[in-house]
Amino acid sequence: MNRSDPQKPSNWKAYKKGMCEGCWAGCCTLPLEVSAYDLIRLGVITEDEAAVSLKKVAKKLSKEGVIQSYRANSGLFIIEQRGGRDCIFLDEKTRQCTVYEKRPEVCRTFPKIGPRPGFCPVGKGPK
Ligand code: SF4
Repeated sequence: MNRSDPQKPSNWKAYKKGMCEGCWAGCCTLPLEVSAYDLIRLGVITEDEAAVSLKKVAKKLSKEGVIQSYRANSGLFIIEQRGGRDCIFLDEKTRQCTVYEKRPEVCRTFPKIGPRPGFCPVGKGPK
């Protein structure tokens, strides 16, 4: 597998079954936008907290290092990245999702929906 740059969707490869085997999980280095429902499913907030105020939720999760920002106009939260690259839920060594059963909706639909639908930043990752 070649190295790939997730920031350049024009270089991505068309998704094929089995492609994730041995991949470095470049898709888990893309900015991850999640909803309040995703955060509840992940278990980082409660339904009650979400019902009271999403701004308060954003403040709490930002302090805890779970999100990097909140977009009040869309109600979406951006999950924090380790070292400015990996999703914080990605295991650095195994390159596997540590919250797979509870992963956000956008992770479930990728690459059907994403920066380049049907294509992946597959490969061994940057040096
Ligand atoms: S939640 Fe899991 S599947 Fe989604 S980007 Fe993070 S590590 Fe990848």
